[in-house]
Amino acid sequence: MAYYIRDALHDAPALSPRRPTVNEFFLSSYTMSIYSGCELGCPYCDSWLYSDRPLNETINVPLDLPQRLASELEAVDRGDLIAISALSDPYQPAEQTYRLTRQVLQVLAERGQPTLVLTKSATVLEDTALLQRINEQSLAIVMTTLLTVDPHLAPRLEGKAPPPALRLEMLSELKRAGIPVGVALLPVMPYVNDTDSGLRSLLRACADAQVDFVIWDYLHIPNERHRFRMNEMLARLGSYPVSYYRDIYGEQPVVNNFYRQERDETIITRCNGLALEVRAPHRIFAGRIAPRNEAALLLKHAAFRDRASGREHIAIIQRELADQVYNGTYDPGALKQTALAPTLLALLGHGDVA
Ligand code: SF4
Repeated sequence: MAYYIRDALHDAPALSPRRPTVNEFFLSSYTMSIYSGCELGCPYCDSWLYSDRPLNETINVPLDLPQRLASELEAVDRGDLIAISALSDPYQPAEQTYRLTRQVLQVLAERGQPTLVLTKSATVLEDTALLQRINEQSLAIVMTTLLTVDPHLAPRLEGKAPPPALRLEMLSELKRAGIPVGVALLPVMPYVNDTDSGLRSLLRACADAQVDFVIWDYLHIPNERHRFRMNEMLARLGSYPVSYYRDIYGEQPVVNNFYRQERDETIITRCNGLALEVRAPHRIFAGRIAPRNEAALLLKHAAFRDRASGREHIAIIQRELADQVYNGTYDPGALKQTALAPTLLALLGHGDVA
């Protein structure tokens, strides 16, 4: 069990600064974490990179977080989505005692602020009524991270996390309650959970659970410390040599383009066959977040599909336009370059330009 420290935020803000670009996975303009430290301590988690102590050893409980958030929200656009997704699970065991996540959702519900929660814990179901309240006013989405549905591999990858089947049941129950739900396949780890058969089983399970969408990205290895951690994890999973990742990463922190494109194509093809959306579909966020954010997301999601189809040049243009739209620096005429022009121009109030 972790050691809990009841504390205050002191000089730290409750919310991140507004993102310079909308997050295409989580639809967010801001992120926040509830607890600092994560008792689940998944070995592949990026949060180890930001923690001086073992991530799962000490959990800071900032008791004044809800009040601080309420005050910071006064400067936040009501159409900006806040993702409770950063660096720790908001429904880790500490939540049973402190209920900080519940208090934060109450603050967000008071304002009807669009919200996304990323969690592996079914404790989120205890806050279904709050999520429904937010979703009636604007938008509430719940996502879970899922790396595999292999009952032998899952406990070896994330021994303290609830079993994959339980997470999918949790999403199904939220969906029945009217909350949009998604799965984050984060991260795809070469040779660990990226095999065709593993992906096929996972995506089939997502489709069976009727999740609204899936997203994925590939393991980042930004420094030697993380590489060492990954090598330790791999040694526990099998007998991989230390040089195991070099063919895919070389000396880079991200997978090479060939590997990314090939795996993206495989996942997209599989999702198409299962009628699974590969990003949050427009019907989920249409009219529920700020029009500029909505338009920027449409462009980013289109760019993702273009890039995956090898149309890198078009993808770059769409991404640049997305950032300009999001930041309000776009030229309406430039939007006519895209296939989405009629939708974007209407959304942004430029029907006359079309
Ligand atoms: S539950 Fe999420 S935040 Fe916590 S350690 Fe695992 S991956 Fe990281």
